[in-house]
Amino acid sequence: MNSPVYLDYAATTPVDPRVADLMSRHLTMDGIFANPASRSHMLGWQAEQTVENARRQVADAIGADPREIVWTSGATEADNLALIGYMRANRARGRHLITSTIEHKAIIDSAMALVEEGFDVTWLKPDADGRISPASLSDAMRDDTLLVSLMAVNNELGSINDLAALAKVAHANGAIFHTDAAQALGRIALNVKHLGIDMMSLSAHKAYGPKGIGALYVRRDAQLRLEALIHGGGHERGMRSGTLATHQIAGMGEAMAIATAEHNEDQQRIRQLRDRLLQGLSDINGVHCNTQTDSAVPNILNLAFDKVDGESLLMALRDIAISTGSACNSASVEPSHVLKEIGVPRPLALASLRFSIGRFTTEADIDHALDALHHALTGLRR
Ligand SMILES: *Cc1c(COP(=O)(O)O)cnc(C)c1O
Repeated sequence: MNSPVYLDYAATTPVDPRVADLMSRHLTMDGIFANPASRSHMLGWQAEQTVENARRQVADAIGADPREIVWTSGATEADNLALIGYMRANRARGRHLITSTIEHKAIIDSAMALVEEGFDVTWLKPDADGRISPASLSDAMRDDTLLVSLMAVNNELGSINDLAALAKVAHANGAIFHTDAAQALGRIALNVKHLGIDMMSLSAHKAYGPKGIGALYVRRDAQLRLEALIHGGGHERGMRSGTLATHQIAGMGEAMAIATAEHNEDQQRIRQLRDRLLQGLSDINGVHCNTQTDSAVPNILNLAFDKVDGESLLMALRDIAISTGSACNSASVEPSHVLKEIGVPRPLALASLRFSIGRFTTEADIDHALDALHHALTGLRR
């Protein structure tokens, strides 16, 4: 059996071979394997150099200072640290947090955990295009609002929030602005200073780096304090203890550097592939675009198919690796919370598929997917 065509890059990306090569040189006895916190020998200093070089690469990718980057195990942990760490550290000043109903589960569940601790959460609803309007944020702001957290790019739809406008509203009312940018790096321009972002969550594995490593950007400001969630040796200026994973960190730095350098080229090629996919479907009836392509990243296309059962469609498309709704909910058959929130009717939401294209996708992959789709849809609708 041929291995399926991979069109699930929004769930995770393969590690770029250039990144894997660099990582492999940070594992074994003949590589840079030592503990970056070992101050007593040269091997430790070398590992520290690797970590600091990667910290600069990540900082450069988002226009930050290296001292503003905190390593975490991924965007999930960065989201937890941003929301829970910030609200707990500032509980004396207020108890209100604003986020949205179409965030990733890492944000939604962190906010729910804060409700358990006595904090108040306002859940903003998206417009039909999957974006949060600055006006709705403005209406929700209160005197005791400490933090606003709204994602940069939605992982199911690809919709892009206007971060600059949203951050401006948060700041005008004295709140801090956090964004989950796991899906955004390498897809849209992300300069924290230009956009006015105070905290930003990043993940390596959504941008051709390894799984298990991410970062939280925390703007340098004495007022911006976080309470640590993981206690130990006081690494990362006390915000996140634990021995730094040199090989993972080196991999993330390199992946972010490549993503920035090749951003335009990658996105242009991917847009052409996305348009090829759309064009190839134009002769099939009853295909709805859940993604509003003019305000979304080109690598994600969420489509709904009329008059078919979602499960049967997925079965018939075994040759293509794709997601129904978000990969993170694929264990349950409930329609995706994101599709529900933008008003996709339940049967259509259940028959929606997310195609996500990436650096290694070819025209042949798209054509193969189109053949499979034509075949499956004619078969199932007959
Ligand atoms: C993948 C993803 C996460 C989780 O990132 P991990 O590094 O896998 O923990 C969080 N938010 C969004 C928007 C994502 O796409």
